[in-house]
Amino acid sequence: MEYGKPCTRCLLEQAGRQDTAKLIEEKIAIMPPKMRADEPLYKSRLDICLSCDDLVGGVCMKCGCYVQLRAAAKQSHCPSSKRQW
Ligand code: SF4
Repeated sequence: MEYGKPCTRCLLEQAGRQDTAKLIEEKIAIMPPKMRADEPLYKSRLDICLSCDDLVGGVCMKCGCYVQLRAAAKQSHCPSSKRQW
């Protein structure tokens, strides 16, 4: 089995994890609208994650969450001590 270099600063799709990305997308889609971050907030959070050293293959190394799912929850926040979003 061949192991490649982990994909840093990328989301699930860029890490080649389309199946997981689809599952996350489905989970976000069934999230009650009042609990979901609106699109501009969601995108701004992911932009911050995409420039963060703690993002590896779509997963936050600070908490182990898929950042796309974490960023989609309105009340959520970045788990870093710097609280980047
Ligand atoms: S530490 Fe914060 S900004 Fe960095 S990947 Fe995790 S959630 Fe995103």
